[in-house]
Parts: sequence; structure tokens; C-alpha cells
Amino acid sequence: MNARYDQGFHWIGNRWVPGAGEHTLPMIDPSDGQPFAAIARGDARDVDAAVAAAREAFEGEWGRASALERGRVLMRVAASIQEHADELAAIESRDCGKPLGQARSDALACARYFEFYGGLADKVGGYTIPFQAGYTVFAEREPHGVTGHIVPWNYPMQIFGRTVAAALAAGNACVVKPGEDACLSLLRVAELAAGCGLPAGALNLVTGLGSEAGSALTAHPGIDHYSFTGSPETGTRVAQAAAERHVPVTLELGGKSPQIVFADADLDAALPSLVNAIVQNAGQTCSAGSRLLVERSIYEPLLARLGKAFDAVRVGPGAANLACGPLIRRSQLERVARFVEMAESDGLRVVGRGSIAPDAPAGGFYLAPVLFADVPADHPIAQQEIFGPVLAAMSFDGEDEAVRLANATRYGLVAGVWTRDGARQMRMARRLRAGQVFINNYGAAGGVELPFGGVKSSGHGREKGIEGLLSFTTIKTVAVRHG
Ligand code: NDP
Repeated sequence: MNARYDQGFHWIGNRWVPGAGEHTLPMIDPSDGQPFAAIARGDARDVDAAVAAAREAFEGEWGRASALERGRVLMRVAASIQEHADELAAIESRDCGKPLGQARSDALACARYFEFYGGLADKVGGYTIPFQAGYTVFAEREPHGVTGHIVPWNYPMQIFGRTVAAALAAGNACVVKPGEDACLSLLRVAELAAGCGLPAGALNLVTGLGSEAGSALTAHPGIDHYSFTGSPETGTRVAQAAAERHVPVTLELGGKSPQIVFADADLDAALPSLVNAIVQNAGQTCSAGSRLLVERSIYEPLLARLGKAFDAVRVGPGAANLACGPLIRRSQLERVARFVEMAESDGLRVVGRGSIAPDAPAGGFYLAPVLFADVPADHPIAQQEIFGPVLAAMSFDGEDEAVRLANATRYGLVAGVWTRDGARQMRMARRLRAGQVFINNYGAAGGVELPFGGVKSSGHGREKGIEGLLSFTTIKTVAVRHG
């Protein structure tokens, strides 16, 4: 079959497979609102086929491969993704609307995850335990088996890379359900992986709707571990379904992350990062810096500078590679626009607003980034994950108030602190309820090596870094009595 990733097929057992229901879904280009490709609309039968293929691989060639062999395959996948970075970036940019440069960075990050976990595959072992005389006891790490991956549409290649490469490195076989709005790059990566010697069934992708293919995957008795990235509401449903079968779940559920700027900060260094943390990917980033907390003595001067920086942001099609692209779909545009309208009708002060490029196609899902000032801490734009380029600023007096405001949402994913005071840096890092704290930077350029995940409604479990691989293993204790 001379099929392709954009023609409506699942990827199962290293082959393009038509959906059992034979239905497809159009893929819409967020930059112009027009359909440009199709994906298969998967259902429970397709998930069954994918899980069966994964189980066969886990019990067969992939499950028997040594850690060294697994690592080498993943390193070849990394090299192949890198070689195809321009092609993958073009696919992802069209699929998600993200600026081409960002899409290319995402392709390279995906490659880096395969490189990192490929290198790690044969370096994570178990340990022996001093026990009673006459025993030798050891704890071995082993894969869960068949892992289910629910990947959203905002960073398909990055989130796929960080969960799938880690799971494969640990020896699991994977079934992936990508977001229905953006999955073409992942289908292409899967095809590339097969070309690098990843055995049939080790990696399978079933496309379709979350409510159909996604819920069939979360209900499937053949899955031994789930990783989910998305909203707290859907995460709860996934965790409940998994709990019915007592299957472990890693949940990454987004955030309402604060950037905290003290009066002694290097503002020239902070300013571009404060803008980028909310404008990048049109604010559709789980770790977006969507709240800005500024010490009162520098509040107005900093906002004046930031307002100008927001005014300068241009929004346009992914291919134009401007600072900000469109939102993923019409309903997301409407959702974000409702937050902006609410803030405006509540009289919140607009300090800066970007603009949509005059030549941006009329049907695209564009929203100009906006900076609101004096936002009450309990206002919806200071509490809810908007997932759009909307920054809510407020002032504070002293460390205690900064900590109280920073921790006063349901989320706890990431926090940024800008100050030159070393002791304060340490105190703030300790007191902030977040999975990652960045001092005088935000995001550490993606940090594939850095454990990532949340507390509170931002989820639990860790991805990225060595912790990310450990999440895809379980410990088996072996006690040998030899006298
Ligand atoms: P969802 O949480 O509904 O979607 C996330 C992922 O879950 C997608 O792959 C989706 O597939 C899948 N999914 C949806 N329903 C089910 C289900 N019943 N069973 C299994 N999987 C399912 O987020 P939305 O796309 O609806 O976006 C809404 C909001 O969620 C955003 O505005 C944002 O606040 C938050 N979000 C956070 C993300 C993060 O990175 N933390 C990522 C995405 C969203 P499909 O896309 O096919 O429906």
C-alpha cells in the first residue's frame, strides 16, 4: 500500500492501517481554517488491534531486546528525526499553526528525547539490599508492559518524545492516541522509527476523537500504565478509568504559573522572558507564565516597558514565522476571546496588546496577545488556565505576599523568580508550591534532562530527565535464600 501519514490511516504493527469504521476526520489548518489532510477516526476496534500488536511486540522481539539494543535503536531514531527536522517542522507548523521556528525547535527537542533516553536505556539498573544472613536480595527495574500515551495537540512532538522515548527505553511497547487536532508529525515520526529498526508493534498510533479512541484506550484491559497530558477534567476521567483496573497513571495537567519579579531583578534580562513565556505557542503551553507578580516599587515602570513589548508582537500564519501563531481551533479561539471580553467588561486595565498581521488569512484562528494590569487575585483570568496569550499582572509587597499570591491557585506546575538576592532565591524556591522553580530564567530552554511535573491540580508523577524513565518502570524484589 502506497499510503502516507496524512491520508487517514492508523500506524499499527509498522504498517498504515485503515480504521475499522472506515471514517476519517478532516485536519484543519489553524492559519487559514481550511481542511488540508485527513486522519482515521479510530474506535475501540482499532485500539484493540493496536494493543494486540503492542502486546505481541512486548512478548516478542522488542521485549527480548537488551537494554543496549533498545538504546541503539532509539539513538538511530533520534538521528533520523534530526535529519528530517525541516520536513517535520513544516508538518507540525501546518497542523498546529505554530511558527515554523518553534516547530523546528520542537522537532529537535523530540530528537533530543530519543537521544537522551536512548543513551540512558542501559544505565538505569536496580540495587541489592542488605538482608538477613543466608539471603541475597535484589530489586530489579522492569517495564510495565504495554503503555498508553494520550498526547495533546499543543506540543505533539515534544510530549510524544518525552513519554514515548522514555517508555521504549525502559522496554515497554506503546499505544499512542494523539490529539485529534494535531497528529500528523507523530505519524511521520512513527514511520521514521520503523525505518530505524524499531520492531513492529513496539510503537502504535491510533488517531481519532478523545471521546472515542481516547476513551477506548483508557478503558482497555490490555494497558499496564498511562501517561496523560491535558486538562484536569479529562485527566480525572482518565485516572478514574485506570483506577477501575488499578493501573498507574502519570498526569500532567497544566498550570497557572507565576513569574515573580522583585525590585532588585535584572529587568533587561527578565523582560523578553516575561513576554515569551506567555506568547510562545500562542500561550497554549502547560507551563506558560500566565501570571505576572511584580514588587510594587517597580510595578508601573515594568508594566510600561512590557506594554510596549506586547504592542510590538505580531500574530500571523505559522509559515510566516512571526512571534505568535494562531490558536489551534475555532472553539479554542472563542474560549480565549471570552476570557478577554470578560476581563474588559470587568474594567481591567489593558497595558499592551499585539496585532494581527494585515495579510494573515481571514479564516485563521488569530488572537492578539494582551497584557492586563491590576488583576484581582481571584479573577478568572488570574485563576483559570486560559491557554491563550493573555497575561494577568498584579503587584505585591515583600516575599510573604509574593509567595501567598503565587501559591493561591489550584495549580502548581512551574514558577519563575527574578531577583539578584541569593538568599531570597533559595527561600523562594523552597516556599513555592510547584514542580519546577526557575531563578532568573524561565523554562531553562526546555530542559530535556530536568524532571518535570506538577503538584495539586497540575497532576502527579514526573516526566523528562532520569525520573521520566523511572516512571515507565516498576520494581521487582527478588529474595534468594541460599543458606
Ligand atoms: P483535553 O484535556 O480534553 O485533551 C487532552 C488530550 O486528551 C487530547 O489528546 C484529547 O484527545 C484527549 N482526550 C479527550 N477526551 C478524552 C477521553 N474521554 N478519554 C481519553 N482521552 C481524551 O483538552 P482540550 O483539547 O479539550 O483543551 C481544553 C483545555 O485543556 C485547554 O484550554 C487547556 O486549558 C487544557 N489543556 C492542557 C494541556 C497541557 O499541556 N497541560 C494540553 C491540552 C489542553 P482529542 O484532542 O482528540 O480530544
